[in-house]
This record gives sequence, C-alpha cells and structure tokens, in this order.
Amino acid sequence: MAGLSVPSGVEALNVERLAPAESALLHSTLQRLEAPINAKKREGSANLLTWEECYQPLAAEERAFVNAIRALKAEALGSTSRYFGESASPPSLVSVGPQQILKDGAPTALDRQFLPKEVAQAYEAMMQAMERDLGRRLLVESGYRSPAYQLYLFLFYLPSHEESIRETNRHVALPGYSEHGHPRRQAIDFINQDGINGEDHPEAFEALPEYAWLQQHAAQFGFHLSYPRDNPDHTAFEPWHWHYESSP
Ligand SMILES: [Zn+2]
Repeated sequence: MAGLSVPSGVEALNVERLAPAESALLHSTLQRLEAPINAKKREGSANLLTWEECYQPLAAEERAFVNAIRALKAEALGSTSRYFGESASPPSLVSVGPQQILKDGAPTALDRQFLPKEVAQAYEAMMQAMERDLGRRLLVESGYRSPAYQLYLFLFYLPSHEESIRETNRHVALPGYSEHGHPRRQAIDFINQDGINGEDHPEAFEALPEYAWLQQHAAQFGFHLSYPRDNPDHTAFEPWHWHYESSP
C-alpha cells in the first residue's frame, strides 16, 4: 500500500452495508472495469491484472473508493485472516493447461491460470497419483491472482452479499489476505472434470470421490485444506480451496 494516499472519509465506509453513495461508486467502478477485465480474460491474463490497469479507467472518486476498500483491515471486520502482504507477480509463474471441462456434455475451456513453478509441479505429481487411483483428475479453476485482480473480485462479489463488506470478506479475501496472491502459500481452487466446483456446487464438491482422495493424500504432495468447516478465521468452509506449503 506504500505510496498510495488513503482518501479522507475511509472511516465512514459502511462495512455492514454500503451507503447509497458508496453503492453508486461500486457500480460505476464495476462498469468501468468490465470491458478491460473481459479483454484480459480473452487474452488469458485477467489473473495478472496490475494496479495500473485497475486504476487507469477510473474517475478520481472511484479511485478513492477503490483505495478505501484496499485500505480495509480484515481484523477490523472480525476476521483473523492472515495478512500476507502484496507481492508482485513472481517471475517463476507458469501457465497451467490448456484446461477443459465437460459442461453439460460439451467441452468447455477454462480461463487460463498461473501457478508458481514449484506448485505447478507438485500439483501435476498429485494429479498423476489421483488419476492412477481414481481415473480422474481435478483442474485448476483459480490459481495465482494478483492483488489488483483480488480487489476486483472483492468488488465483483459485493452485490452477491447485499453489498456488505463484512459478509463478502467471509467469502472473498481482501487483497493482501488471499492465499491466491501469496506464492509461498499458493492456493488452488479445484474444479472437477465435470465442472463441479466450489462457487456453483459447494455441497456436490464436498461429496466428490476426488475430495475424499485429497483429504487422504494431498498432504503427501504438500497441499493442505485452508478453510475446514467451523474454522477459527470465520471464513466459509471451502472444500475446494487448498494451499501448497513447500517442505522446509
Ligand atoms: Zn480459493
């Protein structure tokens, strides 16, 4: 956050539910970011969105709104999420895939994903073992996400949680608090080959043999479930979200 001035009035940001003026800024911000984000999705680099690309299309008051969200502390929202800080994209990121799921029987490409090289190798080794055991593998629905893209996702999901910052934070981390942006504790959101994922089918994901397999074997490959049921961070149970920790 160094170098960015935090606008006055941040204290007034209503974390229970955005005030009407804040809500208007949220929606105009999302509108201005829609086309650039879609363009980056088409070229497969939305996950690498830079702060410059995020701020560039915005008017001054929208930038101030973004800065106010960016300055929020998860601790102040009743969460004990760890602060990892904002690291720039590490040079070791590699592209995963191309990846394809069968959606209603039709082959559908997933958005391009990136992982630190070491994590990509551990993931591949784990999937080869899963394929030997189950004849199936899990795909990477979401890997590395830049802090700017994490912020965009936070804004994008606010309307799904009645524009409550506190509630959204239980489901989407603020930039700097996400394991998706922390290469030394890199998270992967898994999706199975039939398109069963956390966002759209949380109960179905929990019932998958692939999930049972992960619970039994993932630790051997350095992967750990980050948010078990009733976790002390007050983060929602996420059976699809696993992070990698390299062995010391
Ligand atoms: Zn995740």
